[in-house]
Amino acid sequence: MSSKIKTIGIIGAGQMGGGIAHVSALAGYDVLLYDISSDRIEKGIATISGNMARQVGSGKLDEAHRQQALARISPAAIDGLATADLVIEAATEDETVKRKIYAQLCPVLNPEALLATNTSSISITRLAAQTDRPERFIGIHFMNPVPIMKLVELVRGIATEDATFEAAKTFVQSLDKTITVAEDFPAFIVNRILLPMINEAIYTLYEGVGSVEAIDTAMRLGANHPMGPLQLADFIGLDTCLSIMQVLHDGLSDSKYRPCPLLVKYVEAGWLGRKTGRGFYDYRGEHPVPTR
Ligand code: NAD
Repeated sequence: MSSKIKTIGIIGAGQMGGGIAHVSALAGYDVLLYDISSDRIEKGIATISGNMARQVGSGKLDEAHRQQALARISPAAIDGLATADLVIEAATEDETVKRKIYAQLCPVLNPEALLATNTSSISITRLAAQTDRPERFIGIHFMNPVPIMKLVELVRGIATEDATFEAAKTFVQSLDKTITVAEDFPAFIVNRILLPMINEAIYTLYEGVGSVEAIDTAMRLGANHPMGPLQLADFIGLDTCLSIMQVLHDGLSDSKYRPCPLLVKYVEAGWLGRKTGRGFYDYRGEHPVPTR
């Protein structure tokens, strides 16, 4: 555990917030989990419990350790985050949403507390400027699924102090993750490279070059990727993929980043991938079935 940081506040109990809560609790931190409704928090905790049970099943964790970790995770209201030493915001990838959260959160936060965002693409400097503590604000970008993926990108905003960076680094290392440092440019390193590839795979589908299955098989067997790009898009969440492409397009003002209209259509349909049961594949049956 990091010496100064003992209690982690997490905002957003979705895929990423839940994963961050999972690894933080297993590393011995007390976790306060907040979302827009108690239902979402309960659902998030149930998912964490199920994911930890799977780790017990595969021999990676013992049941006693799972119970101890689950006992460290408490649902919280936003005011309840006052006791957190570090708050990690992992809410929906929408700058307006994040801005509103910071406006509610900053007045209740301990003045010494660090504030981090798990944003995949939005400018850390701009988000930091919307808080009362840009020097204690940093991007801690976990990868999905958090319990499995080893990498965390650390991104300083223009005002981030060295002490904040060092504290974030110590925290991430205590979770047994490897750090890579990225400069604060749209989508940082991983998504700057990964998302244009996914968007191109969607264009390949849109232009009829290949079916969902043909594209995913091509990249799995032809480029040795563990997952096809459309399967990966469903896994990330198509709304998140679209927001990242929009951030790249707006932030770098280059038409090569224009989001594929087919991606926009899927998002407008509410077919957001695994989390809603349907995206480029339909997950509602026993096996995923391509939707095109
Ligand atoms: P998600 O849709 O699974 O979860 C988002 C959660 O935020 C939901 O539970 C939602 O209720 C909650 N939320 C929305 N508005 C809120 C508010 N005002 N207050 C509190 N909670 C609110 O999304 P996710 O995949 O967990 O993504 C969350 C963040 O993590 C985004 O910034 C995303 O870019 C980033 N991220 C995602 C991935 C990925 O692969 N999905 C990877 C790395 C980082």
